[in-house]
Amino acid sequence: MSCEACTHAQLQGYGIANEVFSFTFRDLGFEVQWCIGAVMRYIVDERKTPDTLMLENILPWLERVEIVAEHIWHVPADLPIIVVTMKDGSSVVIDGNHRVARALAEGRESIKAFFLTETEVEPFAVRYELT
Ligand SMILES: [Zn+2]
Repeated sequence: MSCEACTHAQLQGYGIANEVFSFTFRDLGFEVQWCIGAVMRYIVDERKTPDTLMLENILPWLERVEIVAEHIWHVPADLPIIVVTMKDGSSVVIDGNHRVARALAEGRESIKAFFLTETEVEPFAVRYELT
């Protein structure tokens, strides 16, 4: 099964080196683009292990991203997501937003996640000031 979001993900190179997640922090005046492939390589190289993320803790973030309702059923439920903890303490899901939405829809309370800090992933991110 697939949808427009699947097609978009494929065009973006989902799961391969050039996949990028962008988010505009309008309130903070900048946009960040993370190279997901490079972050994934870092996770493997550093032998990071996933932890448990309680879904209630990520709800504020999920309200800020666009979720394609039908697409949540097209993503792998058990692949750990990637959460970046920003310097202000907020959490950003740079990979796996639809997996989070799916877990919520399935009534789960938690999901497996790799937790990284903003500083840690700075080498794999580009930041643009908004003008
Ligand atoms: Zn889809």
